Amino acid sequence: MTFGIREARRLYGTDGWGNGYFDINEQGRLVVTPTRGAAGIDLYELVSRLRAKKLRLPMLVRFPQILENRVDELTGSFRRAIKEFKYPASYHGVFPIKVNQHRDVVEALVRAGRRRHLGLEAGSKAELAVALAQDLGQDGLIICNGYKDEAYIRLALRGTALGRRVVMIAEKPMEIPLICEVSKKVGVTPHIGIRIRLRARGSGKWEKSSGSAAKFGLTTQELLDAVEELKRHDLLDAFELLHFHAGSQITEIKRIKTAVKEGARVYAKLRALGCRLTHLDVGGGLGVDYDGSNTSYEASMNYSVVEYANDVVYSVQEICEAENVPCPILVSESGRALTAYHALLLCDVRGRTSDLGNGELIVPADAHDSLLSLHEIYTGMTRKNHREYFHDAEDKREELERLFDLGYLSLRDRALAERLHMRIQMEALRHARADRFVPDEFEALEKRLITKYIANFSVFQSIPDSWALDQLFPVMPVHRLNEEPTVQATLCDVTCDSDGEVDRFVDSRDVSSSLPVHEIVDGEPYIVAITMIGAYQDVLGDYHNLFGRADEAHVRVASNGAVKISHTLKGDEPTDVLRLFDYDPDAMAKGVETEALAAVKAGRIKKSAAQAIIRDYRASLKGSTYLSF
Ligand code: PLP
Repeated sequence: MTFGIREARRLYGTDGWGNGYFDINEQGRLVVTPTRGAAGIDLYELVSRLRAKKLRLPMLVRFPQILENRVDELTGSFRRAIKEFKYPASYHGVFPIKVNQHRDVVEALVRAGRRRHLGLEAGSKAELAVALAQDLGQDGLIICNGYKDEAYIRLALRGTALGRRVVMIAEKPMEIPLICEVSKKVGVTPHIGIRIRLRARGSGKWEKSSGSAAKFGLTTQELLDAVEELKRHDLLDAFELLHFHAGSQITEIKRIKTAVKEGARVYAKLRALGCRLTHLDVGGGLGVDYDGSNTSYEASMNYSVVEYANDVVYSVQEICEAENVPCPILVSESGRALTAYHALLLCDVRGRTSDLGNGELIVPADAHDSLLSLHEIYTGMTRKNHREYFHDAEDKREELERLFDLGYLSLRDRALAERLHMRIQMEALRHARADRFVPDEFEALEKRLITKYIANFSVFQSIPDSWALDQLFPVMPVHRLNEEPTVQATLCDVTCDSDGEVDRFVDSRDVSSSLPVHEIVDGEPYIVAITMIGAYQDVLGDYHNLFGRADEAHVRVASNGAVKISHTLKGDEPTDVLRLFDYDPDAMAKGVETEALAAVKAGRIKKSAAQAIIRDYRASLKGSTYLSF
């Protein structure tokens, strides 16, 4: 069977996780379509254009139009649900800044959301300062989550005094008296929200942020006490919003419905108690289908944005009607769903780790007897005896290692033993794969023998959740996709850390421990894309090994189909990351210079050598923190 783009789509799953944004074109290249129905952007071509603009790989590419599209999809789904169910109130989304605090991202969302009541959620004083600096239009809410001190509360009140719609959410009981006292001092009536702890739990990796043992939120008793406290301060009418958050990336719609119903019920009971609540904030949790399986697996979700909006609207309405209370304005804090798709990282594969399986292998007649026996095992292996011979080879290999430890084996013989053993393992695995039943030991061997491609990026900087949480991100080559990939490989990054490796990949049926890739052709670039990294990954990088931000480009498609590079940004240089960690690169360079000149004076090196040392040290502080060739 010939391999074409249809097979490539199936192999890499673009039809599933691509969500209409990612596809493969006739030239076998990965394309991004940032606005529905517009022309696609050929990523391989884009790399050439960006390199001509002096941008270096790895490079982060943002598609602001995807952000706009996501805002449209979310707000449009709620608008349509409200219309369909004749829900008597409106929907106001807020974007949680912590999901991606980059100014360009926040401002693009704010611009796209201004006419759609999109506001911002802040979780700290600095985030609140960002939110207050934005023009959110008349209706944009600013929701203040996170623990609060007096300064945070003051800032929120100043926002209110300015005419902004700032709501302070009490996450803990002790914040209620503090908000009341500071408001009195400042002389501004606050808008107060309370976060409750639901019994209902989310599903997936972030399940533990919800349920009765969650870190945030008031219990039912604490909620009742808070109501009394507000009454004492004559601020019960300032209590306008009820909030809950059932965890991020909720994979099952059933869990969302259960949480929303529980939250709506608490809202209704509070209304019946005389609280004049006007808003119900259902938090974040709207998922992203990273593996495209449309299931309740942790990297997926078994519902759509439309279904989410319909279920939130319908469930709240059902409960409010049953309890005979007015329906609240609906608020949600979706971050992941708005930003995940808009950014990807392009990186170049720089080769593979040691490849013992290749090259000519001649065992000389004068080699050690044990080595000759190992060679016989290799030449005598057949499909029938492969398992027995494989076990014999394992014993021989141990014997050869012992001989080396005792000093009886030369380095040449040891090298031959290692290479022969590798060949035997590969041959045994080839035979084992041909059998219907593959024993466990060969499955483990399969993992051990997988090729490792070295890609020019840092897991810790660009996809930290892949390392910390085993989160799955779609990864694939951006070109040669009309050519059958012949290698199964993992992707090792360029950090000095064995954990810096991606070994979980999207697969049509399961999670795969390797990625189908092509043989690298000498002198030709081989570029892979790590996609859907716009939520959290983009801002959680920890500068491990002092690898910094990659070069960056913002790309749009014009209405005539032309691809426009609207903005480029140079990534961090070593000087930048050193300064972040309190080094003084100028002083460091000066120190090396002084030492080199002293060495000249002492006659240890020539003046020209000192100049070269100084020049190269200074050069090392400039340029990319990643590999450059
Ligand atoms: N709201 C709160 C309180 C959160 O803690 C989070 C993140 O976990 C969010 C909103 C954003 O959630 P998501 O990115 O799943 O939409």
